[in-house]
Amino acid sequence: MSDTVPAGSRTSPAHLVHAFHRAFGLDARGVPAEVPPGLAAHRGELLAEEAAEVAEVSVSGPLDRLAHELADVVYVAYGTALVHGIDLDAVIAEIHRSNMTKLGPDGSVSRRADGKVLKGDHYEAPDVAGVLRRQGWTPRTPDGAGAQRG
Ligand SMILES: [Mg+2]
Repeated sequence: MSDTVPAGSRTSPAHLVHAFHRAFGLDARGVPAEVPPGLAAHRGELLAEEAAEVAEVSVSGPLDRLAHELADVVYVAYGTALVHGIDLDAVIAEIHRSNMTKLGPDGSVSRRADGKVLKGDHYEAPDVAGVLRRQGWTPRTPDGAGAQRG
């Protein structure tokens, strides 16, 4: 991510979190890549901590705590994406594209009893690997080969 971002994206989580990582000297990569296991584990732990804090306040609230912890999850998730060189906005756009295919051509929606939207006949799975390849990712081959960049 460069410093020349469109004005409309200056408050996007990706931009804000990039500024945070730059200010504090945290890891940031420009191309998707696997990172050292210790760093990957650390990022996973940070996200698990924040997810647990969401769970703590999901029912009891108060609402400002829930909003705070939800924002922490998103902030840390964007940070983890940045550490791995992933443009998460593009991945979210692909997930959204896929999710919208759960809608039937006639606008029908099938739901589970608890209200979760189910995949219909026209559902298209997200191609996250394709998104990452377009960002410059070279997947590891089964024999362990594969370029590690970033
Ligand atoms: Mg928190």
